Amino acid sequence: MTQALENTRRQPFAFDNSYSRLPQHFFARQTPSRAEEPWLIKLNEPLAKELGLDVEMLKRDGAEIFSGNMVPEGADPLAMAYAGHQFGGFVPQLGDGRAILLGEVIDIHGRRRDIQLKGAGQTPFSRRGDGRAALGPVLREYIVSEAMHALGIPATRALAAVSTGQPVYREQVLPGAVFTRVAASHIRVGTFQFFAARGDAEGIRALADYVIERHYPDIKDAANPYLALFEAVSERQASLIARWLHIGFIHGVMNTDNMTVSGETIDFGPCAFMDSYDAATVFSSIDQNGRYAYASQPGIGQWNLARLGETLLPLIDPDLEKAVAAANIVIEHYGERFQIDWLRGMRDKIGLSTVEDDDLELVQSLLSAMQAGRADFTLTFLRLSHLAADNGSEAAFLATFAEPDAAAAWLGRWHERLERETWPAAERSAAMLKVNPAFIPRNHRIEQAITAAVEDADFSLFEALLKVLSRPYEEQPDFAPYMEPPKPEERVLQTFCGT
Ligand code: AMP
Ligand code: MG
Repeated sequence: MTQALENTRRQPFAFDNSYSRLPQHFFARQTPSRAEEPWLIKLNEPLAKELGLDVEMLKRDGAEIFSGNMVPEGADPLAMAYAGHQFGGFVPQLGDGRAILLGEVIDIHGRRRDIQLKGAGQTPFSRRGDGRAALGPVLREYIVSEAMHALGIPATRALAAVSTGQPVYREQVLPGAVFTRVAASHIRVGTFQFFAARGDAEGIRALADYVIERHYPDIKDAANPYLALFEAVSERQASLIARWLHIGFIHGVMNTDNMTVSGETIDFGPCAFMDSYDAATVFSSIDQNGRYAYASQPGIGQWNLARLGETLLPLIDPDLEKAVAAANIVIEHYGERFQIDWLRGMRDKIGLSTVEDDDLELVQSLLSAMQAGRADFTLTFLRLSHLAADNGSEAAFLATFAEPDAAAAWLGRWHERLERETWPAAERSAAMLKVNPAFIPRNHRIEQAITAAVEDADFSLFEALLKVLSRPYEEQPDFAPYMEPPKPEERVLQTFCGT
């Protein structure tokens, strides 16, 4: 009995590590650094169960494990090598400078998932960084990645947040923390670029084979598996970025090292959701030229995929000209696929179940009215969903716009279009409410939650935000204020990486 208990304590994770079996130069083995006085801020119990972990044990030992102090048996901690284009400039070596992959587990659905500690100390890839993370960005990543998941958008997940009890030194002295991230994998476009930059054809092939096996097993038998891989990654990114646009998400730092090949959203540094609609919105303090503005994201996705395609060319065809031609077709498909996915989602958002040629124009004219009227992105679609079932709520919809004339004219066109739909109004409204959230992680709420935690060690706002955002499509009357856009004095205009 004692022996059995001892084993469950020592083997809380059924690790099954595959990345560490790849060639040695794919990573650097690295034990996490010690945290002085770790304290478990938050454990994501539903996710822990999904991963097949022992929740009671994690409640007891989570601070030690998720700070990196106790490396669980079976873990093979390592920092992954990668490169990347940052704001358009190529950096041949980045790598996990402050993240350590503990290992992989197979979850209860049979999916392989990475468990990674972010902020667990220096690695051979740290360059001049301290390998640490501050509490604020850790809470931001926790909130936003879990909100994305609840919104139905592929994203890495938050398993835990731990306070280290140690300060980190940025422009100010801040409390330190470690974030435990769960991902389908942490392989990025930049991982391929790492090997391409070294002319390491065998490395690229080994990585591509690994990615096919892990993420796209169906294409193993394709006539040209590497071209099929490129196509598959492009498709997932097209659909992912369309989803971002549907909910007003701005990633903020779409460097090639922050784009996964699995199709999950990763790296929630300076990301933010729009309040009032403006296609040119940029929040990130480091994005001075607006490279990663809201409406630029689909084009940047395509640019990043072209960089991935370049690394795959020698595998796609030994004849470079043929390889380039084939890759270019994939790049074009991405554009078409994005447009299809985006428009389909926008049709859903305005309650159309049939397809007409003029739908694109109808959607665009709503967006123009929103832009001109500085309408809140989320509330516009939420109120339109109400309006679909109840003509009495027209005033509430129009009140979303600072200048309602264009919106009122648009409503006339929308009603005309709906006459050619066969859906009963109540059903249409219900379907719209399934895609138009009531709650998004609004910036000012995130900032309030972070400030309370950092300044007063008060995590109640963080907890409340997590709770309301776990059911974003349900109008929870107790949390009504969380639906509101910021008051002028609450508005957050810039976000910071905080690394
Ligand atoms: P990010 O901005 O988080 O995508 O990170 C870009 C690169 O900088 C990655 O290689 C990170 O590992 C590295 N990095 C970011 N913050 C730190 C830090 N505090 N210490 C060491 N490396 C870091
Ligand atoms: Mg990154």
